[in-house]
Amino acid sequence: MEKTSKIYIAGHTGMVGSAIFRKLNLEGYSNLILRTSKELDLINQQSVIDFFEEEKPEYVFLAAAKVGGIEANNTYRAQFLYENMMIQNNVIHQSYVHGVKKLLFLASSCIYPKLAPQPIKEAYLLTGELEFTNEPYSIAKIAGVKMCENYNRQYACDFISVMPTNLYGPNDNYDFETAHVLPALLRKFHEAKVEEANTVEARSEPVELWGTGTPMREFLHVDDLASACFHLMQTYHGNTSLNIGTGKDISIKELAELIKELVGYNGEIVWNKDKSDGTPRKLLDVSLIHGLGWKHRIELEDGIREVYKNKFINQYA
Ligand code: GDP
Repeated sequence: MEKTSKIYIAGHTGMVGSAIFRKLNLEGYSNLILRTSKELDLINQQSVIDFFEEEKPEYVFLAAAKVGGIEANNTYRAQFLYENMMIQNNVIHQSYVHGVKKLLFLASSCIYPKLAPQPIKEAYLLTGELEFTNEPYSIAKIAGVKMCENYNRQYACDFISVMPTNLYGPNDNYDFETAHVLPALLRKFHEAKVEEANTVEARSEPVELWGTGTPMREFLHVDDLASACFHLMQTYHGNTSLNIGTGKDISIKELAELIKELVGYNGEIVWNKDKSDGTPRKLLDVSLIHGLGWKHRIELEDGIREVYKNKFINQYA
């Protein structure tokens, strides 16, 4: 990738796409092609054909996707399958048709089997049943990974894919119904703290969290993911979809305690066991990407503190 190369970031307004945009800017890449979903509907095949014909990008970061937390995945099952398949079919295929030099596709760690041995190695893909709540999303993403692999095999493309763990960072989704756990907890504890501060008895309703709190999750700051994608775009050619994570996980209960403390909320937590726990654990084995010269930089506590400050404190200052 040259500094002047024409680079299309699909999904540049989302959390991952905007982090890749910041990273490319920082590294001096300025010939970036961007389209909002209003300007270009990636689900529409003809629109994507026209776009590639007009712009002819040399490199593509495919970060556009329908994403969400456990409840969104389970509720909008048909949309998660259809929209993700359409977006990736259109972008990956047109990248091939229009001779894109290299493409990077964002998959996700939830596409591994529900009960995969831990930590999860890349080789465990398709070795067991998927978690029911996010099966449609996972099936779509597995298809995307396999498209990259098989376009490389049949057409000698250079399409790579990555499996990031649970992400957090700027431009995250804070809507309670559809958010992932980390942003949902930041907002829940923050709002409870504000409520505490506004009552004479300095009390609030308990904060309700989902499930049992026992599942384990690994969290990666999206700026670290962007640096991994940038690194791989320049150095990696291959069919293995690479794990990207920190190699460390914590329980949802521990995460809740950590966020409660950082936010400064003093009240109670209640666990709503009618809500699903999802996969018990999904810790990634990150030895392959470490071997390729990348390691995360932002530790969880520092990352959460920064996100909390920028999203909730500065905004209220
Ligand atoms: P997952 O990693 O695909 O399961 O997606 P999430 O990030 O949505 O959920 C991770 C875990 O956090 C699950 O066990 C949820 O039940 C749990 N959790 C606890 N409280 C919440 C909450 O308020 N929102 C979300 N999204 N998850 C929560």
